[in-house]
Amino acid sequence: MKPSRHTVIQVALPVPLRQTFDYLPKGDMAVSGIVPGRRVKVPFGKRQLIGIVTGVLPHSDFGDDKLKAVSALLDEAPAVTAPVFQLCQWAADYYQHSLGEVLAAALPTQLRTQDDSWEATTVRWQLTQKGRLIGLEQLGRAKRQQQALQILREHPNGLHHPMLTGLGIQPAVLNTLLAKGLVEQHEDGPPREHWHRERVLAESPLTLNEEQQHALAEINSADGFATFLLEGVTGSGKTEIYLQAITHCLQQGKQALVLVPEIGLTPQTLHRFQQRFAVPVMGFHSNLNDRERLQSWRKLRDGEAAILVGTRSSLFTPMEKLGLIIVDEEHDLSYKQQEGFRYNARDLAIMRGKIENVPVVLGSATPALETLHNARNGRYRHVVLSQRAGQALLPRFRVIDIRQKALTHGMAPELLDGMKQTLQAGRQVLVFINRRGFAPVLMCHDCGWFKECPHCDHRMTCHANPARLHCHHCNYQCSIPRYCGHCKSTDLRPVGMGTERLEDNLATLFPKFPVIRIDRDTTQRKHALAQHLERVQQGQPCIIVGTQMLAKGHHFPKLTLVAVCDIDAGLFAADFRATEHTAQLLMQVAGRSGRAGEQGTVVLQTHQPSHPLLQTLLNDGYSRFATELINERKLLGMPPFGYLALLRAESTEPRLASAFLNQMGQWLQNQVELNGVEVWGPAPALMPKKARRFRFQLMLRSDQRGALQRVLKLCIPKAEASAGHQVRWSIDVDPVTLD
Ligand code: ADP
Ligand code: ZN
Ligand code: ZN
Repeated sequence: MKPSRHTVIQVALPVPLRQTFDYLPKGDMAVSGIVPGRRVKVPFGKRQLIGIVTGVLPHSDFGDDKLKAVSALLDEAPAVTAPVFQLCQWAADYYQHSLGEVLAAALPTQLRTQDDSWEATTVRWQLTQKGRLIGLEQLGRAKRQQQALQILREHPNGLHHPMLTGLGIQPAVLNTLLAKGLVEQHEDGPPREHWHRERVLAESPLTLNEEQQHALAEINSADGFATFLLEGVTGSGKTEIYLQAITHCLQQGKQALVLVPEIGLTPQTLHRFQQRFAVPVMGFHSNLNDRERLQSWRKLRDGEAAILVGTRSSLFTPMEKLGLIIVDEEHDLSYKQQEGFRYNARDLAIMRGKIENVPVVLGSATPALETLHNARNGRYRHVVLSQRAGQALLPRFRVIDIRQKALTHGMAPELLDGMKQTLQAGRQVLVFINRRGFAPVLMCHDCGWFKECPHCDHRMTCHANPARLHCHHCNYQCSIPRYCGHCKSTDLRPVGMGTERLEDNLATLFPKFPVIRIDRDTTQRKHALAQHLERVQQGQPCIIVGTQMLAKGHHFPKLTLVAVCDIDAGLFAADFRATEHTAQLLMQVAGRSGRAGEQGTVVLQTHQPSHPLLQTLLNDGYSRFATELINERKLLGMPPFGYLALLRAESTEPRLASAFLNQMGQWLQNQVELNGVEVWGPAPALMPKKARRFRFQLMLRSDQRGALQRVLKLCIPKAEASAGHQVRWSIDVDPVTLD
C-alpha cells in the first residue's frame, strides 16, 4: 500500500471512536480555505455525517484507494472559532472523550444535524444596464414584469427579496426578468445589528455599599485572564456586582458570557439582565426552538449580541469579542454533565478564560471546596461580601430536637406555632422537603413488604395525583397495588412524607392560607413555574412547599420563615461529597428567607442536634464549616488534595461488567506507570442496578493530576479492546457524585 501523496483533510466526527478521519478534497476544492473548525459533510460507512475539520496534512498514512472525498464544504467561515476549537481539544483530552463528540456537543443542534449554512444571507435584486434602459412597453402585456421593473427603477440600489415579495412581486416574475437579463442578484449579509459601547444601560445601577465597591474594583482591575471567587452570603448583592462588572466590560466594546445553573428555574435572573441593559441580551433557555437558538448563536458569534445568559452548554458559544465570563452559583451540581461527554462547565469556563485571556468570576454563597481551596491558596483572587445588601439581615437559625417528640404530620408544635404567627403577620412560609411525590414508600402494614422497581431494585415512590407508583431513577411507573406482594394483605400504607402529602396536610392545618407546591411534578407544564413564582411574588401570605428547585437564587421579599423538616438524611449519606452538598443546599434554602426588611428565621428539625458539622455550620457559618471539611479531605487524600477518576461499567448481565472491571483493575495494577496512582475496586455503584443494568465502578486516585491523566490515557485502548459489545463503559474525570 502506497501512502497517499495528496493533501488530506482530517475530520473529527460525532462517533465514540477517539480518533480523527482522513478525507480527500473533492474535485477542485481550494484547500487554502479549509481551516480547523469548518464544517464538512463526509461519507461514513453508509451514512453522511457532519464533521469538523481539525487539520489539513500534506499526505496520509492511508493509500489513496482507501480514502474517500469530502462530500461538501459547509459555510464560508468556521462554525467553531479558534478559541472554542482549542477549548474543545483541551476538553476532549482532559475528559478522555472523543473530540468529534465534544465538537458536536459544542454546536447548536441545527448545525450538528443539518447542512444548511448558518450564515444567513439575503438576496438583493437590482436592475442591470439593459433593465434600466429598456422601455416598459417592450415587455408587452406582462403587467407584473412591468410592475417589478417600475419598482426597481425607484430603487437604484436594489431591494431585498423579502421586501419585493412583501410588495406583491412573485419570485417567478423576478426569475423571468433574470432570464431576460434585465435584473441581477446580489447576496448581502444579514442586516447587522449594532450596539454602542456609549449606550449600554437601560436603567441606572444601584449605589454599591463599601464591600461591593471594593469587590467591583478588584474585578474591574483585571487585565486579561484571572479567576475570581466572589464569595458573598445569600442576598449580599452578587448579581448587582455581575451587572456592574458587565457594564464595565461592555463599555470597552466587549461581550459577556454568564453561566447560570438552570435558567428555567430562575426566570427572574434573565429578566434582571434584560432590564438593566440597552444592548441585546440573549438567553439560552428551553423555550427557544432550534432555529431561534441558531439565530442567537450567530449574533453572539459575530458580536452583534452583547450578553449571553445560559446554562452549562452555553459555555461553548463562540463570541467574537468576549471580555468577561461569570459563573453564577459555581458550586451547583448542574454544571457537571453526568452522561456522555462528562465535563464540568465551571472548570472549562476557567480554561476558556485562559485561552481568551479574559477574567472569570465564580460567584457563590457556598463555594465548592475545590474553589474555596484555590481561593485560599492564592490561585484565585478571593473577594468576600460578608453582609446582606441594603437593609436586609441574614436569617437566624433555630434547631428543633425532634427526638421522642410528638409530631403533627412530621412537624413539631414549635414549628407549627411559628408558621401560624408568620402567616397571621401577613408573611410567607417556605417548607423545604427534598422528596417529591406523596410518600417515599407504600408499605404492607402486616409484613413490611414494599414494591421495588423491577428495573432498579429500588423502592418505588408513591404518588397521589395521578395515583401511581413511580421510580424516580428510571421513570418506570405502575398502578398502585391492591394487596401485598408477599402476604396478600390489603393493608398497604404510605410511609414517610413527600411534597404532595405535605401539601395536603398543610392545607388541612392552615385552611385560610393558600399552599403553593413547587416541584418537578407541578412545573412540567410550560410557564407553570413562572405562574407559581408570580403568585409568591404578589406577596400575599401563603405556604410554599417545595424541593431543591426552590434553593436556586429566588428572591421572595415577603418570605420570613423557612422550615427544613428533615436534615438528617443528608448528614449520613454514603457519598463522600454528600455533607458538602447538604450544607450548600441548606444554606441556599435558608438564604431565601428575610431578604427584604424584616429578619428571617430558619427552623431545622433534626434527630442529631449536636452533630458536630451541623453545629459548626450553624454557629460559625459555611466558611468555617468548609475549613473543617477541607481538613478532613486532606487526611483522606480526597479532592481538593487528590484527584479522582471513575471507570464505570454496566451490563444487563452483572457478571460481564464486573469481569471487565476486574480485568482492567488487574491490568492497571501491573502497569509500571502506575506509580503515584491508586486503583480501588471494582465495587458496585451506590445505585447498583438502574434501568435494568448492573453497575460497577473502579476508582483511580492520585496526588498528581498529571499522573492520573497519563494512566487514564493508557486505559483507553485497553478498555476499548476488552469491553466487548455487552458492556457499556465510561470514564468520569473529577466525578461529583459516586452513584
Ligand atoms: P445575591 O445575588 O448575592 O443573592 P442580589 O444581587 O440578588 O444578591 O441582591 C439581593 C437584593 O439586594 C436584591 O433585591 C438587590 O436589588 C438588592 N441590592 C443589591 N445591592 C444593593 C445595594 N448596593 N443597595 C441596595 N440594594 C441592593
Ligand atoms: Zn405483607
Ligand atoms: Zn427504576
